[in-house]
Amino acid sequence: MVIDEATLKEVEELKKDCIVLAHNYQIPEIQDVADFIGDSLGLCRAAQRVDKPYILFCGVDFMAESAAMLNPDKTVLMPDLEAHCPMAAQLPAKLVREAREEHPDAAVVLYINTRLEARAEADVICTSANAVKIVKALPEKKIIFGPDANLAWHVQRHVKDKEIIPVPAKGHCITHLLFKPEHVEKAREEHPDAEVLIHPECTPEVQLLADYICSTEQMVKRARESSATEFIIGTEVGLIYRLQKEFPDKKFYPLYEKAVCRTMKMNTWEKFLTQLRERKNVVRVEPKIAERALLSLERMLELSK
Ligand code: SF4
Repeated sequence: MVIDEATLKEVEELKKDCIVLAHNYQIPEIQDVADFIGDSLGLCRAAQRVDKPYILFCGVDFMAESAAMLNPDKTVLMPDLEAHCPMAAQLPAKLVREAREEHPDAAVVLYINTRLEARAEADVICTSANAVKIVKALPEKKIIFGPDANLAWHVQRHVKDKEIIPVPAKGHCITHLLFKPEHVEKAREEHPDAEVLIHPECTPEVQLLADYICSTEQMVKRARESSATEFIIGTEVGLIYRLQKEFPDKKFYPLYEKAVCRTMKMNTWEKFLTQLRERKNVVRVEPKIAERALLSLERMLELSK
């Protein structure tokens, strides 16, 4: 969709007191006007560095909650407050408490793609980029890991001397579950010189066929640093737009063009514009829960130094 000049001018004016953060999977129109584009943690860090009273967070619930937790003095908004990540919803706080009771000697490591109430029960948070490092750094030999069982498998593959217990047992991202081994085989046939970059939320069968297992930010880094000029991208298709824009001399192919996260795409241009103008969709976090969830995030920052 082409946005007319008058609207773009209005957006610039409205952004004078509002920072726009867009996740890598957002629609091109939102990415084009965002102040920062990145993964959930990168965006929260970006928000902390900017001195504006409003944050319009274009992503899903758990990301906006993180931004609100880290910026209690700012008003965090979402284009659509119903953008609930289905994977984060698979791990309610109750399930974490039950797992702890069952395995009292285990540390609880939760992927940042988790709602705040569950994170408040964790010992430490991780991202897909630092999950292996965090688990290795802990003294415990038993690790309760949630909610993504595929990321848990990736961690277990690289941390052989610990027992990783996925909670829930089959937690997953429905978008990354769409990728199948035959997509990798077909893409390699069509683009034999391309590097295959796969997100660790994909199934083990797909991960095993990758050249590199990467978080979205690691994919951007790999595209920047690699001498390869073609890449097959095994994550939500929204990242292709950012990659192609940042590296116009390289080529990026989606591993599967139908890998679209419906929740991320609930943030339409119209809803974005409405919130920039009206500022009604305020993300609220319970201060006590935020306080506890912050501890697990701070521990991650400490362990990933
Ligand atoms: S891509 Fe997966 S993990 Fe990310 S918001 Fe969509 S459903 Fe949730």
